[in-house]
Amino acid sequence: MELLELKGISKEYRSGKGAVKALSDINLSVKRGEFVSIMGPSGSGKSTLLNVIGCLDRPSAGEYFLDGMKVDRVSDDKLSEIRNRYIGFVFQNFHLLQGLDALGNVELPLIYRGIGSAERKRRAKEALDAVGLSDRIHHRPSELSGGEQQRVAIARALVQEPLLVLADEPTGSLDSRTGRAIMELFQKLNTERGITVVMVTHDRDMARYGRRIVRLLDGRIKEEEFIG
Ligand code: ADP
Ligand code: ADP
Repeated sequence: MELLELKGISKEYRSGKGAVKALSDINLSVKRGEFVSIMGPSGSGKSTLLNVIGCLDRPSAGEYFLDGMKVDRVSDDKLSEIRNRYIGFVFQNFHLLQGLDALGNVELPLIYRGIGSAERKRRAKEALDAVGLSDRIHHRPSELSGGEQQRVAIARALVQEPLLVLADEPTGSLDSRTGRAIMELFQKLNTERGITVVMVTHDRDMARYGRRIVRLLDGRIKEEEFIG
């Protein structure tokens, strides 16, 4: 069963000086349980593609199906509901709130969903346990290493039990050893929990933790490589 299906997706940005075509005729299918890496030079459309997949941005043309639902033309409210229900996001710079400890950061998405305190804490602790941070739950981001902060961010994505995790350069701020540990964590979540992962990276070594590499050039898919 396809979790993601993009058919003829294009994205144009209009500005004062004219239009920039960020994506042209993208056809891409991702099945449940896949781990896909997206590579390509700066400006090739990687972030735009991830934003479209993550329902943060809409395509200018083409069709997008997420878990069989056609999502390219739904309302903004419906789009954010779909996002909250299906997708966890992980960013290069972690995007943690500095005033909250690890537990507080991981609980946040559940607060927005109106889940009560005891249940929130239970689920947040479970997510922090899954990323190996049981002994750091009361540390604030400034008291954690980069790799630990990224683990908190991954726990925050996991606590919503997403079908899909989207990661934009998740190792871009980490040294390579820590980056590899984060990739091993994504791999574990993918194989043990069946979470579908789509990740953008510049780093070929990191990309190879995925089972398929999609290469973009000038807004088009240039090639796909399957990792044995
Ligand atoms: P990366 O994908 O390498 O992390 P970004 O997605 O932030 O970097 O930016 C990629 C390219 O898109 C850059 O050339 C940047 O200048 C351009 N860009 C990003 N956001 C905008 C914007 N709002 N308006 C114009 N150009 C943008
Ligand atoms: P990448 O992530 O591969 O660096 P992007 O998806 O950020 O590439 O950008 C693809 C193209 O779209 C680039 O030419 C970039 O300048 C342009 N672009 C990205 N975001 C915007 C935006 N918000 N407004 C205008 N142009 C943008």
